[in-house]
Amino acid sequence: MKHDPRLASAAIAEASLIVCDDAEHEHDPVVGPIYQTSLFTFKNFEAMRQAFAGEGSGYIYSRVGNPTAHDFERRIAALEGAEAARGFASGMAAISATVLSIVQSGDRIVAVRHCYGDAYRFFEKLLPRFGVTVEYVDGTDAEAVEAALPGARLLYLESPSSMVFELQDIARLARAAKAQGVVTMIDNSWASPVFQKPILHGIDLVVHSASKYIGGHSDTVAGVVAGPKAMIARLNELTHPFLGAKLSPLEAFLLTRGLRTLPLRIRRHMDSALLIADRLRQHGMVTKVHHPVYSNHPGRATLTGFTGLFTFEVDERIDVARFSDALSFFRLGVSWGGHESLIVPVAASLAQTPGVNSFGRFGVSPRAIRLHVGLEDPEILWADLEKALATSQKP
Ligand SMILES: *Cc1c(COP(=O)(O)O)cnc(C)c1O
Repeated sequence: MKHDPRLASAAIAEASLIVCDDAEHEHDPVVGPIYQTSLFTFKNFEAMRQAFAGEGSGYIYSRVGNPTAHDFERRIAALEGAEAARGFASGMAAISATVLSIVQSGDRIVAVRHCYGDAYRFFEKLLPRFGVTVEYVDGTDAEAVEAALPGARLLYLESPSSMVFELQDIARLARAAKAQGVVTMIDNSWASPVFQKPILHGIDLVVHSASKYIGGHSDTVAGVVAGPKAMIARLNELTHPFLGAKLSPLEAFLLTRGLRTLPLRIRRHMDSALLIADRLRQHGMVTKVHHPVYSNHPGRATLTGFTGLFTFEVDERIDVARFSDALSFFRLGVSWGGHESLIVPVAASLAQTPGVNSFGRFGVSPRAIRLHVGLEDPEILWADLEKALATSQKP
């Protein structure tokens, strides 16, 4: 994949996401086509030989490369300020294929303790079978992270982290890792590339669950990784084609469409979430709100905005099950980043894979409820929460 400097300079101007569509297509459509094809044919023997030799930009087979997927990958690379990017069938496919392209038997990964649940389960269940160990650290404590770095292969960050939204000082940790020859990788799904661009702060690789804000409409499961050309080339060499979890053309099309409204949607999520988080903080039956907007950790410096996913804890008087059932606009559901508002009560999720549940292991309260504030009218959403809090006290 070629790094297009015109796209890179446009990366900072988010408006470019809405209008930028400079791939060349027959008839000059304003929206590029979906190349819904498994394979590409060649005019003659020589053209086929060149494609196999990697000469020119010829596509061969859609498991390995597809123009609609490539168009999305170029945009993400531009938006993250990266040289290259690779799309995947899910965020977890992006995470696992990237990690597996870096580590080998005998390696140690240093990971933040509240990383995404399935990333944690991947680390705990699969990696030990290949002789790779993972050490969990409190990512808010930069000195503790730095102390764990010598001899590690990979530093795995997620700032803010899942469920409790703990921040990491990514610029400082990127410098410390570089000094130790440790590769850095961050899950940037929460902030989206609109509100945090980790590569500009020295991080090597950025992964996204594109199923969340990038897709933005709860109709797509997909993932992407962005980073230096050499690291993306390594992943193309070692994992992407063989694990086979490629980004499909239709999903790539939906993600590119999502990108056109991402800057607008993300601001709405932010405004609504901050309004609701503030009111929850003032509510007499709410004991805690975990949202990075209330943190004074140095990790805040790389966030240029805040999004709509956060957790609050209710006091003993509230019956969490009754509260959940009393809501009408917030629906019970995992995932987030779409138009619709959702909750996940931690108490309902604790039974998932007992013993390999990062929430339970790292002490997330069963009185915690994760909210995703969608694009609906925030006053209606607040009225819904207020009513549910008022009607869910224990008898
Ligand atoms: C959902 C999620 C993932 C996994 O993405 P999938 O697209 O569901 O595979 C990774 N990281 C975070 C923070 C997530 O919320």
